[in-house]
Amino acid sequence: MRIPIPADFRPVFDDAAPGPSSVDLSASKYRVPLPLDSEKGVARVTETDDYEPIITQVPVPEETRPYNKLVVCVAFGDVKQELYAHGVAPYDAGVQKRYRITQVSGLGVGLVVTEDHAPGSVIVRECPLLVMPLFVLAANRAGIPVPSDLLVPAVKHLDDNEARLFRGLYNCHPTRGDEVEDLWNIMKTNAISIGSLPGFHGQYTAVYSDICRINHSCSPNAIYGWDLQSFTGEVRASRLIKKGEEVFITYIDNRGPYDVRQRQLQNTYNFTCACPACSLSEAERKRSDVRRSLLSRIWRSSPDSDVEAWMFDHKLPEDLIIKRFLRYADIMEQEMLSDAQWITIARALVMAYSALREVEGAKKWAKKAKEASLAASGKDQGWSEIARAPERTDWWGLRKLPVIPGATWTITAI
Ligand SMILES: [Zn+2]
Repeated sequence: MRIPIPADFRPVFDDAAPGPSSVDLSASKYRVPLPLDSEKGVARVTETDDYEPIITQVPVPEETRPYNKLVVCVAFGDVKQELYAHGVAPYDAGVQKRYRITQVSGLGVGLVVTEDHAPGSVIVRECPLLVMPLFVLAANRAGIPVPSDLLVPAVKHLDDNEARLFRGLYNCHPTRGDEVEDLWNIMKTNAISIGSLPGFHGQYTAVYSDICRINHSCSPNAIYGWDLQSFTGEVRASRLIKKGEEVFITYIDNRGPYDVRQRQLQNTYNFTCACPACSLSEAERKRSDVRRSLLSRIWRSSPDSDVEAWMFDHKLPEDLIIKRFLRYADIMEQEMLSDAQWITIARALVMAYSALREVEGAKKWAKKAKEASLAASGKDQGWSEIARAPERTDWWGLRKLPVIPGATWTITAI
């Protein structure tokens, strides 16, 4: 399980070459036996109506933990049983640390690469220090007292080094000496979503010692993702990052306009963003807002069904889809966006060029889809094969089929 991959992504070919981080959980050598028979390290804390939260510790494989002996996890529902049943697989131990955490101008501490990173290459992969349901954070934020008792014992379960790393993370709302409140504020400043864990439907968040040092940009150069099998977070370059450059991810939905982005960052993280997109002149910023709002149309429409409707509706202009998605691609370039949205755009263009039997266009955009896919997940998702032979896709020549009398098609957004 990884994020973020658009839900509508459907590769035409199977992925013949799994990415380096893909691990077969069924292979017993990868399993780490969890102490099912031991209640050591498990603290019952409190009860809610539905679930009993517990603090438990998830062992991670010896060879793959630069800092962590165990991940402390506040668990609800059957999460503990599920994690114990599956074990945790090691991640690719071949990944060397090619970055340093250092002072960066204007932003305090940041993460800077010490070697060039090509798009798709892993910059950081690490186990979290602490994992907690989003609900608990939200409840604390809303002033509901019950879960407030959870974080202090959870931090006590960290070893000295991990506790030092946790306490050393940035706190965007420091208090004057309220230690418990400061722990919560560190958690709220740094927690990153990891989606659901088996055994509980709600969302979970994680805090990492290194990934949480990465600063925000509305035009980031890296993508954060989560791999459940190895219980690790990872950050990959989404475009070329040169030696000495700082790494940025986005903390928010960065397709929103300037005002919305600033408000969200200010409310949640207490800072004013001065990234390249936020440092434009007022006139330029307005143009940027229009471009980003055009991009968010992609999510409000259904790109796949639009392209499919166009394939068979000969009343629609021949270049409709290609013109529209090339415009989106142009906006992505202008806004310096390099996220998973590229997959959706490139996929639509591959479909359209294939439907028109235009092999060069199909190949070019399949390569782009492959690049974006590698950046998002480390997996090719079959795009290399499509780039090699787009004629083999199901989309090939569909726009060239004879018109079907009486058939109607709908298109969601022009
Ligand atoms: Zn910004």
